[in-house]
This record gives sequence, structure tokens and C-alpha cells, in this order.
Amino acid sequence: MSPFAAILQTLFPGTCACCGNVLVHGERQVCMHCLTDLAATHYSGIGGNPVERLLTGRIPFQAATALYHFRQDNTVRSTVHAMKFHRNAELCLLMGRLMGQELLHSGRFDDIECLVPIPLHWWRRLRRGFNQSELLCRGIADVMQRPVCTRAVIRHRYTRQQSLQSHTNRSGNVEGAFRTKKPELLTGKHILLVDDVMTTGATLTACADALAAVPGLRISVATFSTAQ
Ligand SMILES: [Zn+2]
Repeated sequence: MSPFAAILQTLFPGTCACCGNVLVHGERQVCMHCLTDLAATHYSGIGGNPVERLLTGRIPFQAATALYHFRQDNTVRSTVHAMKFHRNAELCLLMGRLMGQELLHSGRFDDIECLVPIPLHWWRRLRRGFNQSELLCRGIADVMQRPVCTRAVIRHRYTRQQSLQSHTNRSGNVEGAFRTKKPELLTGKHILLVDDVMTTGATLTACADALAAVPGLRISVATFSTAQ
């Protein structure tokens, strides 16, 4: 950082994306209080964790995890909202790096070859300006040193926002919404499907269904949070 930029940052310090408090020296995007307040699941190192139980029989996966508990009144929800609706790209990258560190330390995701974000429909991506899951992947990639593949699978059907659907409507809302576009990019690989929030697992299942046609593909799953 240039001396001029450092002076500017001192005069106009950033604020925490979750609580709005002024960030102090060494803090980026999220204050230390909010960072330690993120409700960790500790699922990543555990086979048969609740995320894996939810997906069993729906997706043929190798390993699955979600890092934080999403609740209506907690810091994880504020973080997800800041990433998605306040278009905070730097926060997405930061949270992706946290994901990467946990996945690496768990030892259960070591043979992942490629990171695949759940795609947005092009129109939603245009309106939002970015795909938060893709930026989470970029953060994970910084830590795990794996390529991010965004061209193999697309969301070809515009769907209503999942968070506005009842739990029973969610599967129907996203069923058939995805299709593979360049399956050869993933042939024979072990991929990590990445999303920001998992609630019923309907979106991940629909995307994995589309990927089922890719020969020799193995799938693992990691989401930033779970609303289960
Ligand atoms: Zn805060």
C-alpha cells in the first residue's frame, strides 16, 4: 500500500461488513469480534456429518461439508447477505480463503482437482455483477492451489430465488435448471462443487444431476454455510 493510500485509509477507515463497527488496524472487511462470532459447524473433518447425511442417496459424493451455521439472527447470515446483496467481492474472497484453510486442514479434500461454483443464470449474474460462489472458489483456490472451472456447467433456466421458496417448492424450482456445456473439461476429475448456502440441498442436487453425464466424474461438496 502506498503511503498516500495508508493515510487515506487511516482518515477514512473501513467498517465491518457484518456489524458496521469501524475496523481497526489489521482487520479487513470483518471485525475480529464478528470473525470469532461465526458459528462454525466443525463438519469438514467428519465423515457422516449432517451435510453428508442430507445428501446421501441424492448425490454420489466423495465428501461433503458446510463450514458455518446459517441462522436468521446470526453473524453468518449477515456475512452471506453482505457477500450476495451488498455485492462485496472482497468479502467473498476472504471467506473463500477461510473455506480453503479448513478444507486443507481437514485432510478429506486433498485429491480435489478442480473447483466448480454453482452457476447463476446469466441474467441474474448480470444484475448482481458477480457470482458469489465463483468468488468463494477463487478464495479457496488461493489456499488450495486448484483451478476454478466456470465453463463446464451452466444454469440455462432462470429460476425464482431459492431463499424465497418454501422448502417443499425448492426441488421443483431448480429441477432441470442446469446443463453441462463443456463436459470434456471435467472428464475423469474429482471436483469440488461450491455454493454459499445449503438449505435443502435442492440446488446442489440439481447441478450434480446435470453433471452425472460427465464420464468418470467424482463430486465433493463444500458450502460456506448450512441453514439446516
Ligand atoms: Zn463486526
